[in-house]
Amino acid sequence: MIKYFELQRVSDSFEPELSEAINRVIKSGWYIQGNENAKFESRFAEYCGAKYCVGTGNGMDALTLIFMAYQQLGIMQPGDEVIVPANTCIATIIGVLRAGLKPILCEPCWDTCNINPEKIEECITSRTRAILPVHLYGRCADMDPILAIAHRYHLKVVEDVAQAHGAVYKGKHAGHLGDAAAFSFYPSKNLGALGDGGAVVTDDEEVASLARSLGNYGSSAKYIHPYQGINSRLDELQAAVLSVKLSRLDANNERRRTIARLYIDGIHNSLLTLPQVDEWEQHVFHIFPIFSPVRDRLQAYLTEMGIQTLIHYPIPPHKQGALSEYSSLDLPVTERIHREVLSLPLSPQMSDEEVGQVIAALNRFE
Ligand SMILES: *Cc1c(COP(=O)(O)O)cnc(C)c1O
Repeated sequence: MIKYFELQRVSDSFEPELSEAINRVIKSGWYIQGNENAKFESRFAEYCGAKYCVGTGNGMDALTLIFMAYQQLGIMQPGDEVIVPANTCIATIIGVLRAGLKPILCEPCWDTCNINPEKIEECITSRTRAILPVHLYGRCADMDPILAIAHRYHLKVVEDVAQAHGAVYKGKHAGHLGDAAAFSFYPSKNLGALGDGGAVVTDDEEVASLARSLGNYGSSAKYIHPYQGINSRLDELQAAVLSVKLSRLDANNERRRTIARLYIDGIHNSLLTLPQVDEWEQHVFHIFPIFSPVRDRLQAYLTEMGIQTLIHYPIPPHKQGALSEYSSLDLPVTERIHREVLSLPLSPQMSDEEVGQVIAALNRFE
């Protein structure tokens, strides 16, 4: 059986450093807001090429904290609008809603699955304050036109980098392409903790400092609370784990690209479409999506062949009960992606032989 993704194999590949890091934290007697957090934050900011990194409890909170910070700064007001891709992970949308802002769903491009810059302007109103590109599946959104529109309409650009740690767009790391960025370190992400974790990354000192206060019950100094914040901090154990894993993020992303190349070169079947990749460094293949009009039959066939696949995502956000006010939107590209997408097994620990088995099975599907 070829599993979609085996976290145990990932953890094993980082031993004994992972256990050593955890033991160091246990013995330190300090578990929240300490040296491990500070060390990881400065390393990760440097990795992204940004000035500031603020650890948070998870990726969705990182998004919420960015938008809470912009409201404290008076740049956004409750009810203002944020343009998001309609085919994102629902956490992107909930993260905006929970900050009291209104997500406006924008169609993606069929060939990249990222927000379609040509559709963004149709979504802009007098209440629009930000564009929130998501680098979905590990592929950078087309940032140049997005930044040009943001510049023209005086909008903030907030990146959702939960799936694209280490991706590079025109020489700059994802997470350093807009005004502020939200990362998730959910265990299965390209940089994953052993539990929940996230971060705000930005060059904006005010956003960084407000995100830190707002994520710590709104405190500016110990026992001083100018804001009504939330509790969302990266703990010492997760920070120590992330420091270990960050050291091999680039190597692991390179292995993901190698596997993606094997898939793209090896799979030949007219019943499915593969991702087209021109700029390899812009893609870190958090997910390897293929598309087929007979997706459900293909998935059942692969399961029978002992190959586990997943669907990212089976139901588009606007068809979820949580977002029923969006249900009548006409989003044909979004709906087609959700109907046809299938994620092949992909992790840096997969062997060439396992990749070959997946390719052979796909080439025999009829
Ligand atoms: C995983 C993910 C999130 C949410 O991250 P959490 O850490 O689980 O809160 C947000 N956006 C995208 C695109 C994601 O993939």
